[in-house]
Amino acid sequence: MAVEFPIFGGCFCGYVKYQISEMPSSVGICHCESCRRIAGAESVGWAVMNKDALSFTEGSTRDFRSSESVERTFCERCGTTLTYHRDGRELIDVTLATLDNPELLQPTKETWCGERVSWNQLNDNLDHFEGSSSS
Ligand SMILES: [Zn+2]
Ligand SMILES: [Zn+2]
Repeated sequence: MAVEFPIFGGCFCGYVKYQISEMPSSVGICHCESCRRIAGAESVGWAVMNKDALSFTEGSTRDFRSSESVERTFCERCGTTLTYHRDGRELIDVTLATLDNPELLQPTKETWCGERVSWNQLNDNLDHFEGSSSS
């Protein structure tokens, strides 16, 4: 299915809205403990794109450093996890579940499977990596 850009998303309460202007370079599900805890979920789906491809159009976010070089943002009102960004990187990750239509971007891989919760089964149709997909 061809996806027409921009595509749109936002937080749970509707205060923060964003748009994505081009096809992400990768889409995956992360099982790492940081993602799990920050989202309060057993795994988190992310779309990875150029920073310029993401623009916030309404509301405002707050940020939090989950490690020395990683900044994550969330809605300042409802706390929905929205982005992940590593300092100095041209790419930003956006949570798949905050897309208005999460069917538009399909994950192809699962990362940090070494930290996966045992009752959260891997999807056999995806590629699997013990850590990040670049290592
Ligand atoms: Zn919100
Ligand atoms: Zn993660």
